[in-house]
Amino acid sequence: MSPTPLPPPHEPDAPRDLVGIGIGPFNLSLAALAHPLPELDSVFYEQRPGFDWHPGLLIDGATLQVPFLADLVTLADPASPWSFLNYLKDRDRLFPFYFAERFHMQRAEYDAYCRWVAGRLPGLHFGHQVDAVRWNPERTLFEVDFTQLDSEGEAEALGRTYTRNIVLGVGTAPHIPEPLKPLVDAPGVPVIHAADYLAHRERFLTAEHITVIGAGQSGAEVFLDLLRNRPAGREKIHWLARTEAFAPMEYSKLGLEHFTPDYTRYFHALTEPVRDRLVAAQWQLHKGIDADTIAAIHDELYRRTLHGGWPDAVLTPAVTVRTAGRVATTKVELHLEHGQQGARTRLTTDAVVLATGYRERPLGQILAGLDPYLRRDSAERPRIDDQFRLALDPSVPGRVYVQNAELHTHGVGAPDLGLAAWRSATILNSLTGKDPYPLPRRTAFTTFGLEPQSQVPPARHTVQTLTPLVDGR
Ligand SMILES: Cc1cc2nc3c(=O)[nH]c(=O)nc-3n(C[C@H](O)[C@H](O)[C@H](O)COP(=O)(O)OP(=O)(O)OC[C@H]3O[C@@H](n4cnc5c(N)ncnc54)[C@H](O)[C@@H]3O)c2cc1C
Repeated sequence: MSPTPLPPPHEPDAPRDLVGIGIGPFNLSLAALAHPLPELDSVFYEQRPGFDWHPGLLIDGATLQVPFLADLVTLADPASPWSFLNYLKDRDRLFPFYFAERFHMQRAEYDAYCRWVAGRLPGLHFGHQVDAVRWNPERTLFEVDFTQLDSEGEAEALGRTYTRNIVLGVGTAPHIPEPLKPLVDAPGVPVIHAADYLAHRERFLTAEHITVIGAGQSGAEVFLDLLRNRPAGREKIHWLARTEAFAPMEYSKLGLEHFTPDYTRYFHALTEPVRDRLVAAQWQLHKGIDADTIAAIHDELYRRTLHGGWPDAVLTPAVTVRTAGRVATTKVELHLEHGQQGARTRLTTDAVVLATGYRERPLGQILAGLDPYLRRDSAERPRIDDQFRLALDPSVPGRVYVQNAELHTHGVGAPDLGLAAWRSATILNSLTGKDPYPLPRRTAFTTFGLEPQSQVPPARHTVQTLTPLVDGR
């Protein structure tokens, strides 16, 4: 690996060019692509003691939903020393990977690869929780306040860094629907979000009856893992979902073009109401279940009928949990409603896995200090431009970039690992004002949108009647 010129030593109180908040895959990608740019003095803070990618769901055999080229750097710089292939080379595993012929790496391998990068990149500070960001007009700099945490997560010291620019990569947090919140922290019956599944797996495997709620990828993987590890004929598992079906994730090659820079640019240029309608309508692009996982579930259910009888596993879609409560100290009662039948019933269970998804971590708390300068859309969400910059009052020359907080402005690609390197490169090109990472002008065969000759307000749900041009077609 060719030595990268080190940036000049950082004067203690000197402001940084860039402070990154959060070190998940997206800010790690940015740090890896910033590394060869010595003119950029950057530092990244992460509240966790080390890089740790969704530890509760590194289920054996679970793979990424994107190909290995969607690593931290390759789609912006295939020659980067921080690529997945270079990691394999460094680990003497290139030939085994070559013969493994696996396009989708295992989730545990992605975590290991990211730890390899995080363990070698300078300027990454783990155990640092960022508490607040403010604009200091006197110094025309941002102030970033952080708490240094010890290995137990206890506060050890407070600190402040000054910087010209910031990138927020605080990611997503597990989402728990209101009716189920009271159950989660109460002792006794295990009711956990899927994000913590592996830490509680043994307890679930021995529970009398289990309910998995939610039909996204996590719900499917947890259900499959439990099904495979419960005695045949005594599975005692319910898998419930609000969605109308246990539906596959869109994975057709043209469908996947929604995860391209072309579509992201197209989406960003649409009006706010159209964007909001599309995000809701496109749930199957990022919320369905990987087809291989669905097949594995059916295979396992089928395998369990070989010796007669059907597995004691109930899979019901279109069901909402209206309320839930404890029965004695050892059971939970779920009050269910079927969205199509309108029928209601109760299900008593001994353990619940909430595979109810994730939501973008609210930025309100960290950015409270910037509130007077922040521009918002009609739903009070931050406005974000095509270079992933928050729209701020012109009196603030510094820039705040976001990663994976822009679903409402940039569409379904926001949480997608496949766009990590491109977004990082876009941010670095914008930050440096140069193009250290020349980006592709075209990335999709689909041409999203028309080259406007005239503009009419976008019609909503109207059927267009086409007047025949020539021979009645
Ligand atoms: C189980 C799972 C599997 C997924 N698999 C795929 C996949 O295969 N393909 C795909 O395209 N996408 C996948 N995703 C979606 C997405 O890529 C991931 O969620 C990814 O982790 C997002 O990266 P991130 O950097 O935005 O956030 P995160 O990974 O959530 O990291 C954000 C980090 O910020 C830190 N942080 C937050 N607040 C602060 C603060 N105030 N101070 C300091 N640090 C802070 C957090 O501790 C966290 O470590 C998956 C998501 C999940 C949950």
